[in-house]
Amino acid sequence: MRPPPESILDARSSSGHGGAMDPQAKIKTRAELARLVPALRRKGRTIGLTNGVFDLLHCGHAAYLAEARALCDVLIVSCNTDASVRRYKGDARPLVPLLERQFLVASLEAVSFVTSHGERRMRRTLEALKPDLYIKGGDYDAKALTSRAVVEAYGGKTVILSLAEGLSTTALINRAAEAAFREGRFLPGPGAPRRPAAFLDRDGVILAPVPHLHEPEKTALMPGAAAGLRLLARRGFRLVIVTNQPGIGMGYFTVEDFFRVNSRMLGLLAKEGVRIDAVYFCPHSPALACACRKPATGLLVRALAEQPIARRGSLFFGDREADMRAARRFGIPGVLVGPGDTAAAVRLAAAHGRDLLAAARRGLTLGRIVG
Ligand SMILES: [Zn+2]
Repeated sequence: MRPPPESILDARSSSGHGGAMDPQAKIKTRAELARLVPALRRKGRTIGLTNGVFDLLHCGHAAYLAEARALCDVLIVSCNTDASVRRYKGDARPLVPLLERQFLVASLEAVSFVTSHGERRMRRTLEALKPDLYIKGGDYDAKALTSRAVVEAYGGKTVILSLAEGLSTTALINRAAEAAFREGRFLPGPGAPRRPAAFLDRDGVILAPVPHLHEPEKTALMPGAAAGLRLLARRGFRLVIVTNQPGIGMGYFTVEDFFRVNSRMLGLLAKEGVRIDAVYFCPHSPALACACRKPATGLLVRALAEQPIARRGSLFFGDREADMRAARRFGIPGVLVGPGDTAAAVRLAAAHGRDLLAAARRGLTLGRIVG
């Protein structure tokens, strides 16, 4: 939840007593800075300028800005406006709006002033402020940098600083997504409407069966799996994987191994245009007699509570008797994928298909008859 920026900013700017730093006072328009900078230069201060998005401020940013400040007396940071970030990173970015990004950057001791720019190139800002040093972070070739000519034209210098590896906003976003995924939550977004789910067993339905599968390199999609999932998604089903992974509880592989296989699976499916909404798994050994191992319905109950799912109209796709029993106990039709592991699996199934695409087609017909 994003706090309203005005309230934070007002609270901070009104508490500037006792010598406390006031980040808000460091935020200036480009025109304001253009008036301030000449006076600072006359006092003999070296002016440095750098720019960036600073979406999700992290240690790499702080270290880079401290290093930049060590080169100059006054460090000015120009943040890209929200519109300019969207133009080259897409509509999902920035995660943090400009006023808040500027406030955080201004909160760093290394930073003297913060401004913003909406242009793709820094030419206008550089010509307005004429910093002694134009400081860039990353793998830029100083000679190839187009701004370099602009800087040299007024007698400034361009400096390139290397950035610490592995620290980036993109890496943070990926880690947040991974954390959400591990919890079985794929962030449906606030107010997402409840829709029927296609609950899917993983091994033998989506992934080619390998006993105690835990190696990403052995992870392969079943024939018809991607096409079946695409069809179900097109018909409005949320795609929720529900899988028993007793190999974790029995010590054959770790939960990390399971996540690695899932990451590989999600990558393979993404290439096929399929996005899974959530993954639920039982890590327990059968001996534990837990409430989540299929044919128990614990995973389905949890998914129903946590995801925007409607039970009515949902279907369960599995290749085993345990899947068909779980579906029946949960009160939704079970659709058998493949021949089934027992005669009971075939008997309990409301429909079946030789692969997920065939099963999905049968399941959709069934939905129309039932509902
Ligand atoms: Zn369990």
